[in-house]
Amino acid sequence: MSLKSWAFKKSPWVFHLSAGSCNNCDIEILDCLTPRYDVERFGILLVGSIRHADILLVTGAVNRKVAPRIRELYDMAPRPCLVVACGTCACGQHMFKESYHTMEPLDARVPVSVYVPGCPPKPEALISGIVRALQQFKV
Ligand code: SF4
Repeated sequence: MSLKSWAFKKSPWVFHLSAGSCNNCDIEILDCLTPRYDVERFGILLVGSIRHADILLVTGAVNRKVAPRIRELYDMAPRPCLVVACGTCACGQHMFKESYHTMEPLDARVPVSVYVPGCPPKPEALISGIVRALQQFKV
């Protein structure tokens, strides 16, 4: 395993983008940071800038306002950047499919590495999704 690969897997930094979620998925992400799950002990850090992130974690069904920004954010991220779709909305638009305010699904805009379905997904599922995304990482 190369140094880059080792470092990436030991400290994946995550940028969270809400693309029009109802907030429940976002709350589950925050739950991962609480003492019960404490993902920071594994080096998984939620960061405030996409320029520092290894993983783009997206929640929500991609509404019209945020749709153009998703590709911009992805292009601004350092490479490699893994994308994790969190929640059934991000995975496949859920009940908002063909709604007036939604655009094409997330994976039509950026390459999604891992889908974590659930409404909302439990913290365990989210952590498992991040681990699965890291397993796809190869340098
Ligand atoms: S998947 Fe469910 S909890 Fe998550 S944003 Fe959609 S409606 Fe809300």
